[in-house]
Amino acid sequence: MYSHGICQEVRIIISTAPTHYRTSRIRNNILDYLKKSTAHPSANDVHQFAREQNPRISFGTVYRNLNILVDIGEVQRLESSRGKDRFDARFPQHAHFRCDTCGNLFDLPLVPDQLIVELSEKTGHKISGHNLEFTGICSSCSSDS
Ligand SMILES: [Zn+2]
Ligand SMILES: [Zn+2]
Repeated sequence: MYSHGICQEVRIIISTAPTHYRTSRIRNNILDYLKKSTAHPSANDVHQFAREQNPRISFGTVYRNLNILVDIGEVQRLESSRGKDRFDARFPQHAHFRCDTCGNLFDLPLVPDQLIVELSEKTGHKISGHNLEFTGICSSCSSDS
């Protein structure tokens, strides 16, 4: 769906991210889980997963590690005016579609790299990311009615 050229570009950006955070097992597990998931888990979902590996892990520990992953650019936080923030470790950064009925978040095959370049040139801002969300009713909810 996405071209490999874009993926490689993203990899280079990640490898130059600040490395002053010590890598930890917990954090690596969380990142692994987010990379494999297409469901855009919430912090609660991530905590639930982490507890399967380590039943004593607190929500605070999980949340702190999630925030570090967001800070170093490995994970994208998808903020929502409605409901909880979701997390996504799938690159390149892409647009999302949120269903108003079931609340699920779907990936859209839209990588607005070109748009970012154009907007940066037009406005003079150094735009480095986006949080683009479309809303409506997903295909399974619309076929239920
Ligand atoms: Zn739906
Ligand atoms: Zn996504």
